[in-house]
Amino acid sequence: MLLGQPFLPHSAVKLNVSWATVRDVVLRVSGASEGDLFRAFRESGDLGEAVRQVFETHKRKQRPLVEHPMDITGAFQILVKVAEAKGPKARERKERLLEGLFARATPLEAKYLTKVIVGEMRTGFREGMVEQAIARAFAVPEDLVRRARTFIGDIARVALIASQEGVQGLQKVRPELFTPVGFMLAQTARSIKECLEIHGGRTALEFKFDGARVQIHKRDTAVRIFSRRMADVTSSMPDIAQLVQQELSATEAIVEGEVIAVDSAGRPRPFQILLHRFRRERGIEALVKEIPLQLYLFDLLYLNGEPLVDSPYHERRQKLAEIAGSIPLSPQLVVSDSAEGERFLNQAIQLGHEGLVAKKLDAPYTAGVRGKNWLKVKPTMETLDLVIVGAEYGYGRRHRWLSDYYLAALDAETGKFEIVGKTFKGLTDEEIQWMTKRLQELKISEEGRRIWVKPEVVVEVAYNEIQRSPKYPCGMALRFARITKIREDKSSAEADTLQRVRELFNLQVKKF
Ligand code: AMP
Repeated sequence: MLLGQPFLPHSAVKLNVSWATVRDVVLRVSGASEGDLFRAFRESGDLGEAVRQVFETHKRKQRPLVEHPMDITGAFQILVKVAEAKGPKARERKERLLEGLFARATPLEAKYLTKVIVGEMRTGFREGMVEQAIARAFAVPEDLVRRARTFIGDIARVALIASQEGVQGLQKVRPELFTPVGFMLAQTARSIKECLEIHGGRTALEFKFDGARVQIHKRDTAVRIFSRRMADVTSSMPDIAQLVQQELSATEAIVEGEVIAVDSAGRPRPFQILLHRFRRERGIEALVKEIPLQLYLFDLLYLNGEPLVDSPYHERRQKLAEIAGSIPLSPQLVVSDSAEGERFLNQAIQLGHEGLVAKKLDAPYTAGVRGKNWLKVKPTMETLDLVIVGAEYGYGRRHRWLSDYYLAALDAETGKFEIVGKTFKGLTDEEIQWMTKRLQELKISEEGRRIWVKPEVVVEVAYNEIQRSPKYPCGMALRFARITKIREDKSSAEADTLQRVRELFNLQVKKF
């Protein structure tokens, strides 16, 4: 039973329960205040644990008429009912069902109910552990288990294959159409020279577009588009789906690329504009007209029954060029000379792109891995992807809006988010309004003008320097932090860690 998390995309039941709903239910059932809940959260950095603590320390107000001990199937059935509640009274019904469930729960049960419902079983760690356990239990290599999981998503199926068919069975696992394959990701490099060193003297440089990564699956006339978070976003991009349907000359294919918003002259528009497409505040027909998109393809994972993930990149790209029709591929320059690479980087920046991605020509597509076969180079300022953990209402014109944000990085050792800075700079009025609404949904507690929230919203933050500072418990603070982008495509588990902030701090010390 896995709910509300991307771990098993096609066998998961979608609960559609927000943190705000769970919070209200927990507070009602336990009788605890928002402040109690937040204090417990601050101690453990874990929402489930915070709920356990308030259940432990607060007298429960509500008692069910008949006491039943909870069992997994019973709880599961209720959660299925929660998932099925639809229509105008859905929220009310969901709350009533959840209230019944929490009222019966022991503190420990309430902890795990919370984690399951809000999708916070800390999957990053758990996935790895389950893969390890399967590898050990059936004496198969762990990387084969992981590889199979990134192809078919469903860890339960992977376990079945490992137990019944062992290594041979796992080796036969292939990407499957209409199940998103784990995305290959890039590490950061400081310069083109460094990319060349890592890639053995020769590398393929491509424009790094400031858009949304898409993985597109096609069989005959059926097309589905998946986002980097493995969500099906086809309905936000009917124009792109149609383009692929018409242009891609393959019966079956999985291709990857980046979609950017463009102006009438075809120049890139900021990423924030593209987000309107995903938020769907207006009808999609209007958005298709207002925000035209451009797709650039750069990879091919599967073609007419043949998986290509293990083929070298230059071959995949060659095959992609053969089937892409009129869809452009990302501009590419294969270089062995760093000066030539630097010129290409300048060109990319002048055209309004973010930088370059250097790709190792003979590398396979390493699904779900952020490795060195792809390196991103951005010439501009340093940025960090940080998580908003709290916010304050502004002053004057902004007094109704949460416009000053606490930015945090995950301490990978303790699992807690540590504040490293605060900023009210960088967002437009429209974005601040959106952010206010979003953060209110994620609220854990409110103290005067300040609210603390479930760490979920990721933002890209530019800064001038990381200072040693007693202001925050981690001993560091960003100077002149400003938000450069709302990263809706990243989850808080993918944001930069405290360890990374420390590493940058140390590098900076060396530079001075
Ligand atoms: P980051 O999100 O900063 O880790 O950078 C990696 C992202 O850059 C990928 O997930 C893509 O969305 C994006 N990207 C833009 N252009 C390219 C390209 N030519 N090749 C690969 N990724 C690209």
